[in-house]
Amino acid sequence: MSLPNDNSVTGTIATGRPYVGRFAPSPTGPLHLGSLFAALVSLLDARKHAGRWLLRIEDIDPPREVAGATDAILKSLESHALLWDGNLTFQRDSTDRFLNAIEQLRQADHLFYCDCARKSLLAARSLNAYPGTCRHKRLDSGALRVRVYDTIIEFHDRWQGAQKANLGDRPGDFVIRRRDLLFAYQLAVIVDDHASGVTDVVRGIDLIDSTPRQIHLQALLKYEHPRYGHFPVLTDREGSKLSKQTGSTPIDDADASANLERCLNLLGMPLASTLRGAPCTEIVDWAIEHYEPCSLLKSKSPFMVAT
Ligand code: GLU
Repeated sequence: MSLPNDNSVTGTIATGRPYVGRFAPSPTGPLHLGSLFAALVSLLDARKHAGRWLLRIEDIDPPREVAGATDAILKSLESHALLWDGNLTFQRDSTDRFLNAIEQLRQADHLFYCDCARKSLLAARSLNAYPGTCRHKRLDSGALRVRVYDTIIEFHDRWQGAQKANLGDRPGDFVIRRRDLLFAYQLAVIVDDHASGVTDVVRGIDLIDSTPRQIHLQALLKYEHPRYGHFPVLTDREGSKLSKQTGSTPIDDADASANLERCLNLLGMPLASTLRGAPCTEIVDWAIEHYEPCSLLKSKSPFMVAT
């Protein structure tokens, strides 16, 4: 499908398919409280909808990977009784799928190569608003970008409501494969979500700006759009998002029940005293029963936690 200049794409249709959710951590470090919260919310939402909850390790960026992170993440999820359905998957096994998607986009003439150095885009303040520099150069190597023109993307976020973005303004033509041949997150995530039949993407609000790009790619590839729900992220006292890369304190699996309790408090679901310190399976079962996509999730402002 080609998108003319003023095309408008509306994403997030009600899928009508049985719910399939997922948690998709990058192995850039062990889980911290914020990523545990993300895992818990996406699991509760899936289970509440009698859905499946898949686990995918997004290991598409080996230079950023931290040795042992995948094992630590799996161990933490298991220790907190956040148990996924089906086989654990790794994006490193999806290369053929990514290449096929690129080929489909190339054949429909949506792609071009770009040899702009990151530094020069930064200097020209166009890292997040690509000015189309290489769009008509017909280069045969470099980073692969998707043309976007003035593409308006609208979608309904389950918690953040109506969203609208003009991809032409920001970020402009965007990268789906880097010049070092690594696949970009924007492409990898939608190809793998599609391949595993994900109907519901539930993740932190820090990723909401990526969603229009992902909806655009889904439209170009003729994929069904999932529903999206972005919830507030956890920050430290200074207001910075907890993040694996910036070395937020890893959760201690030995305190698993207490960690779950902290996350549930943030969700407005304080544990009954009889459940304090109970095995995680009991806490998670209780949480599934009592979870409502509650009003706290509608907040755009982050939850602040002490680290
Ligand atoms: N891999 C991403 C991360 O760890 C999450 C991607 C997603 O949920 O779409 O932040």
